[in-house]
Amino acid sequence: PSFKELGIIDPLLEALGQMSFKKPTEIQVEALPHAFSGRDIIGVAETGSGKTAAFALPILQKLWEEPRGLFACVLAPTRELAYQISQQFDSLGSAIGVRCAVIVGGMNMVDQAVALAKRPHIVVATPGRLQDHLENTKGFSLRGIRFLVLDEADRLLDMDFGPIIDKILKVIPKERTTYLFSATMTTKVAKLQRASLTNPVRVEV
Ligand code: AMP
Repeated sequence: PSFKELGIIDPLLEALGQMSFKKPTEIQVEALPHAFSGRDIIGVAETGSGKTAAFALPILQKLWEEPRGLFACVLAPTRELAYQISQQFDSLGSAIGVRCAVIVGGMNMVDQAVALAKRPHIVVATPGRLQDHLENTKGFSLRGIRFLVLDEADRLLDMDFGPIIDKILKVIPKERTTYLFSATMTTKVAKLQRASLTNPVRVEV
């Protein structure tokens, strides 16, 4: 199927065209219909599969339908991955005016607090620094988010972010959609999955 046949709206189709994404990858074909029906998703897929657009497109599409403030939080294991994810949100969301903030370690806390005060729609973060802002940045919270993405969950857990993720899960709405992507399904990932997803559908490529 084409992106249009999968139900992608015109402003996102336009962005996909500009990015020369001509047809959806396998993980996108598998995941997007479930995402559009509102399901939580476990995606077993490697970097290079097109997994980022597989979770970014449904989030952006929902944001277009129901514009609001802070809408989604994406957790990634490394700064580099966080920047790559936010670049894809920016490119895909260019036609709908999406604002994305990257919150990672090693950067200035005050600059990040200023970026958060500008009310981004999407926060892409490494867990440690996000938790730091949740505790120390006045006025910042994740209470209104509708989507949580745990990207490269196996690596998040290998880097011992598990306890911080547990804390973050306590301060976000229970009523939300959650996408978990991982290259491998380990026992630890399965445990995180049970703690964070509701009746998920599993897609694998
Ligand atoms: P990812 O697995 O999300 O890191 O994506 C791997 C690379 O594939 C990235 O450079 C994306 O920009 C690119 N990509 C994702 N989806 C598509 C697509 N449908 N067509 C062409 N390139 C894509």
